[in-house]
Amino acid sequence: MFSKKEKPLVAFTIEKCPSCKKETKRKFQEGDCLFVHASECTTCKIPTSISKIFGQAIE
Ligand SMILES: [Zn+2]
Repeated sequence: MFSKKEKPLVAFTIEKCPSCKKETKRKFQEGDCLFVHASECTTCKIPTSISKIFGQAIE
């Protein structure tokens, strides 16, 4: 029997642009923190902020 606990969890970060509301999902990086500025929106050229950090099991 395999336990669900044995599935490795990968942390992801969602960056959201405050202007166009575009969300970008990327792998969590050390130092990521909710609501801090992240990378620049490619469309608006303004900094996005981190809206969500979550763990997801990989199959
Ligand atoms: Zn944008």
